[in-house]
Amino acid sequence: MNLKDIGEFGFIKRISRGCLIRPQNVIKAIGDDAAAFLPEPGETILVTTDLLVERIHFLKDATSGFNLGYKALSVNLSDIAAMGGIAREAFISIAVPENCTLDFLEDLYKGMKRLAAEFGVNLLGGDTTRSKTDLIINVSLIGSASEKEILYRNTAQQGDIICSTGFLGDSRAGFHLITNDIKGDSNELKPLLDAHFMPKPYLREGRFLVRQSGVHAAIDVSDGLSSDIGHIAEQSNVGIRLYSEKIPVSDNLEKFCARFDFDPVEYALAGGEDYTLLCTISPDKMDHVAANYVKRFRNPLYQIGEITDSGKMELILSDGQIRSFAPSGWDHFEKI
Ligand SMILES: [Mg+2]
Repeated sequence: MNLKDIGEFGFIKRISRGCLIRPQNVIKAIGDDAAAFLPEPGETILVTTDLLVERIHFLKDATSGFNLGYKALSVNLSDIAAMGGIAREAFISIAVPENCTLDFLEDLYKGMKRLAAEFGVNLLGGDTTRSKTDLIINVSLIGSASEKEILYRNTAQQGDIICSTGFLGDSRAGFHLITNDIKGDSNELKPLLDAHFMPKPYLREGRFLVRQSGVHAAIDVSDGLSSDIGHIAEQSNVGIRLYSEKIPVSDNLEKFCARFDFDPVEYALAGGEDYTLLCTISPDKMDHVAANYVKRFRNPLYQIGEITDSGKMELILSDGQIRSFAPSGWDHFEKI
């Protein structure tokens, strides 16, 4: 069965159950010309949107509907997390090709609803239409934060310590397995696939960080560590120094790289879609924030480098040599 058999309105009826997670403040959910809800009094509205196109951003045959829905919402939640906000209302628009089954679509909404329920996000509407060949998904997400509690990219300060909330490079390894048709069902490879298909949104961590004194800037890792830390450097007008030994790489990625002959640090730098948060923290507050963080999340806040005044992007290797790196990764040959 596909969308044609039940029509757009039949489909909306089917998927609208379980979309209203947090009914407070919602006056009209799915079913009218527009949704109506009350914003949190006195709070600033955050809005982000992300477009996922089949064959450009995902391979439909390599993923399940559930994973695709989960990821489509997760990447938006990650943007709100990077601002230190609370995610609230989501709007989902999809363009569906004829060969897409109703089961796949329902599964896609299940994936989104799973995450929405976990983070108290309402699915308040959207649009459904037909597409000639490719499946296209757009999620728009509204979040909120008080004006003084928002983290930006352009507010890093010289001397700040650069931190990551999680491992880097796993998702790219998962992508390598998918695109090279390598079975990922072993204990080592499965978590790499999971990192790619079901990235964790660091919303709680972002909210925690924004409330700690000394946390200055943040971004989420969507394009890769080198690229995203580059946005902070450019927008804050500062330099970056990263230490290759401090970049958090999972045991699974180490084993993957040993097996397929890759460099884990390169994977972590150039890989994308990790959706961890990078933040910069004043050095005199670092120990305090790190101790609070580990107490709260039972995970370390990985300190990977520092903000400098050089205007350069430098990677310090384990033997002390300095290499420059660019948004696409790091240059093996160029010594500086
Ligand atoms: Mg982002």
